[in-house]
Amino acid sequence: MIDRADPTSQPVKYIFITGGVVSSLGKGLAAASIGALLEGHGYRVTLQKFDPYVNVDPGTMSPYQHGEVYVTTDGAETDLDLGHYERFTSTVTTRNHNWTTGKIYLSVIQKERRGDYLGRTVQVIPHITNEIKDSMQTVARQGGIDIVLIEVGGTVGDIESQPYLEAIRQLRQDLGRENTLYIHLTLVPFIGAAGELKTKPTQHSVRDLRSVGIQPDMLLCRTDRALPQDLRRKIALFCDVDEEAVITARDVDSIYEVPLVLSGEGVDRIVLKRLGLPSTTRRRMEAWEELVERIRNPTDDVTVHVVGKYVGYEDSYKSLNEALSHAGFAHQLNVRIEWVEAEALESGDDAALGDADGILVPGGFGDRGSRGMLRAAEVARRRRIPYFGICYGFQWAAVEFARHVCGLEDADSTECNPEAPHKIIYKLRDLLGVDDLGGTMRLGSYPCDLTPGTALYEAYGKNAISERHRHRYEFNRAYETALTEGGMVISGRSPDGKFVEAIELPGHPWFVAVQFHPEFQSKPLAPHPLFTRFVGATYRHRLSAKAAAESLA
Ligand code: GLN
Repeated sequence: MIDRADPTSQPVKYIFITGGVVSSLGKGLAAASIGALLEGHGYRVTLQKFDPYVNVDPGTMSPYQHGEVYVTTDGAETDLDLGHYERFTSTVTTRNHNWTTGKIYLSVIQKERRGDYLGRTVQVIPHITNEIKDSMQTVARQGGIDIVLIEVGGTVGDIESQPYLEAIRQLRQDLGRENTLYIHLTLVPFIGAAGELKTKPTQHSVRDLRSVGIQPDMLLCRTDRALPQDLRRKIALFCDVDEEAVITARDVDSIYEVPLVLSGEGVDRIVLKRLGLPSTTRRRMEAWEELVERIRNPTDDVTVHVVGKYVGYEDSYKSLNEALSHAGFAHQLNVRIEWVEAEALESGDDAALGDADGILVPGGFGDRGSRGMLRAAEVARRRRIPYFGICYGFQWAAVEFARHVCGLEDADSTECNPEAPHKIIYKLRDLLGVDDLGGTMRLGSYPCDLTPGTALYEAYGKNAISERHRHRYEFNRAYETALTEGGMVISGRSPDGKFVEAIELPGHPWFVAVQFHPEFQSKPLAPHPLFTRFVGATYRHRLSAKAAAESLA
């Protein structure tokens, strides 16, 4: 830890972040950014997310509904905000970092069935709220934490948010005023017709919050322009918040600017002061400052074609987007993503891949679009375009190679064709016979051994790695010999030899496919080596294609 003011004598501090007016204001990013700043001051920080919906976890929800399912090291399927927490801070999230109403109720109902409540009537208050309060303290109880940031999902005023607001209200009583802080994120819209910023939605939102007994200590006001002094004063007066704690959270070009923008508004200084935490040293944010400088000054652009199933909703591939951006930061390149609907390639028309410089096929489930993914792998292999296959993109690259190089014409994945004569990808043997949708996957971090001399080994620079998984099907090792004789190289395996985790094509400019999800471990300050290698190869491909075109002209 860097010059941390010795907080060992201090109790753990809790910062609760709520949202008002509308959803999607960026509560997760605000929480993560404040976390980054507090780490910059030398504090040990973690973040938790409470989601008011009734699903036990987002694992079974459509990516169109929920966005990406973020997978933690211990194999929990969680909200994508946990990805922000890990990208912005050094926290490593687990199943204890994300709770839903379903998960809270499940736990209470299990206790009730066990008789833990000794015959009492089980009620929202106190049983559900106690369960919420307890969950909010599970992570800190494990020790090594100075400050916990707790993000309450949803918007103040929602029926389903109420038990959470009641729980955080009570926690101020339980933990002490000086150990808790309420931050409320609201919107201050600019109304074009009036030519003015409007404070009324913020006033209403704070009134809702106060009606359940919570007086915010700080307001983060999302706006597209700076809040003038008189407006801040007005918000402070009507909402009973100190003027210095009415913060302009203006829109920024890159999410990675948010910590610095908030710090510029004094957020970290005010938070520490309110929590009675010393900020004896200057905050250390040099790495972020240098990062933002690089983000703002790319030397060139590079485009990656991503062939997926949920391309209509970018949040479905949140960590992937971010990992590609991080790789761009490493090369000082601006990575653009060209989203290609996998289904569009199924007719055999490759127009959507146009003059792609790099093709990435990410994770996915089910039949729809799967043949388009296979086609994308084929185009990349034949035209020697850098290819990066992740999870489903790994599986279809293997099937494609079996079909078109090894002559196994009907090669397939049993996910789409259970009767396929050549089951290159089939259901995890240990799970055969398990039909429930929830909880039957190979989830979380697993070790993997890399083969020296491969592109994969070159990227990581070591032979033992650990990456996160989320899959139900696997590479069928009965076909290992056929595929390697055809020229494919197995570059990663589980240490027990059971799972083929990565394949690649030697002699191709860069064709790497992995069963795991490297995007979950990429950070802006520590870009993932596979993404940096892939983006580097894509850029080289672009430059050589350009040079070839110029020499013809
Ligand atoms: N559908 C595939 C499987 O379940 C791939 C999963 C994924 O891409 N995350 O194995």
